[in-house]
Amino acid sequence: MTYFTSYWWQDQPQYRNTEAPPTKADCVVVGAGFTGLSAALTLAQAGRKVVVLDGEAIGFGASTRNGGMLGSGHKVSVADAKKHYGPDIASRLHKEANASLAYTKSLIVDHNLDCDLQYCGRLRTAWTPQDFSAMSEANAGLQIIEPFAARMVQAHEMAQHIDTDLYFGGLMYQSHASVQPKKLHYGLLQLALQAGVQVFGDQKVQSVKPTKSGFCISIKGQDIHCQQVLMATNGYTQAKVSKFLAQRVMPVPSFIIVTEELGAAVVQALLPGGHCMVETRQRFCYYRATPCGKRIMLGSRAALHAITPEQALPTLKAKLAEIFPSLKDTPISHCWTGFTGFSFSKLPSIGCHNGIYHAMGYCGNGVAMAPYLGHKAALKMLQPQQQHSVFEQTPLQRRFYHHGSPWYMPVASAWYRFMDWRDNRQRNKALRQLDR
Ligand SMILES: Cc1cc2nc3c(=O)[nH]c(=O)nc-3n(C[C@H](O)[C@H](O)[C@H](O)COP(=O)(O)OP(=O)(O)OC[C@H]3O[C@@H](n4cnc5c(N)ncnc54)[C@H](O)[C@@H]3O)c2cc1C
Repeated sequence: MTYFTSYWWQDQPQYRNTEAPPTKADCVVVGAGFTGLSAALTLAQAGRKVVVLDGEAIGFGASTRNGGMLGSGHKVSVADAKKHYGPDIASRLHKEANASLAYTKSLIVDHNLDCDLQYCGRLRTAWTPQDFSAMSEANAGLQIIEPFAARMVQAHEMAQHIDTDLYFGGLMYQSHASVQPKKLHYGLLQLALQAGVQVFGDQKVQSVKPTKSGFCISIKGQDIHCQQVLMATNGYTQAKVSKFLAQRVMPVPSFIIVTEELGAAVVQALLPGGHCMVETRQRFCYYRATPCGKRIMLGSRAALHAITPEQALPTLKAKLAEIFPSLKDTPISHCWTGFTGFSFSKLPSIGCHNGIYHAMGYCGNGVAMAPYLGHKAALKMLQPQQQHSVFEQTPLQRRFYHHGSPWYMPVASAWYRFMDWRDNRQRNKALRQLDR
């Protein structure tokens, strides 16, 4: 039997606050994911009275639905970053990507957060020989800006890491890790509560309006007055609360399956390296062993527009079988979906529009970055005159075709299919040369 909810939620505690939210606070944070909780923690540690509101159960969003792959990096190459932002910002983007991983790792370690942290590394697998060369070149460029633990894995070495001959080598990020994201979220929530933050679920924010002394936040049947507001709603941002943000952040779904227990020996044979795996192909797969080591979790973009997990399941099963043919008929215990928030610059951003702060746009890379950027957004709220992060210089951009609802996603899907077709031609040519 397949459950169409997040595997990570199984047997985990769910925090509920049955009290009524207060009518006043210093700061209100909208969204109780990694970004919102981390920001709230920093604000409370600085002595602010902080209220966090989520429209759904606490932890409803991507923060407890993701693949639990803890890594640095974002989707913009150094060359593109240099072109759009100049060499200084390009190098700071790389340094802060590394800093985000270090920050979230030490948040976990220093506070002893029980979230199945495993220092497993991440292997980015090359779908074509051209991908391998491009990764090698990009890695060399990044190492010059700031060295970090990453090395190329040649195609002939791949068997030490994975039991498939699909890939043309890869790039191993040795300092990347994995977590159980629901547990990480719960740990962060406990830290925020201990620091005095009040967190409320099922309290959808209906509007944020300026007042003489700050803002009025309307929830069902009640107003909360505060001096500062942070929008931490990422892929779940609603136009009726913030048209500005909804016009600048695209909700893009991602889908995940988890197998029934296969046993530790089978998983170990399929993934002998024990790493998180992420492909370079356009509609890429990402996969890993679950923390118990007995199942495999695989995520992919079964569609770029919202479809149900039931509809996504056959595509995900086919992807799993493509990588590991022996798992073709393996029963799937869980299949679910969640929304990532994509910015048009492909970079996350901290900003302030009409006095309302925001931190979002992680483009599917938020397990390390969202706690980090939540912290940085809080520092910005505490000291607005100072610059705290390079992501203040990567403002959210608009595109003429995006007004809040991603109506154009079927066109984007067709584009990605075309790109995969083009890459597969390169790939097949290389395979013919190798006689595989
Ligand atoms: C399936 C999937 C797999 C992923 N895998 C990875 C991975 O392996 N590694 C990685 O680094 N990243 C991954 N990500 C991305 C990562 O999970 C996100 O970037 C990160 O969790 C974003 O955190 P957040 O707090 O900003 O947003 P969220 O956790 O999405 O929280 C936003 C919250 O805002 C609330 N909200 C929205 N509107 C309102 C309102 N009006 N009033 C009150 N509350 C509101 C929502 O209910 C939601 O709970 C994945 C994402 C998905 C969906």
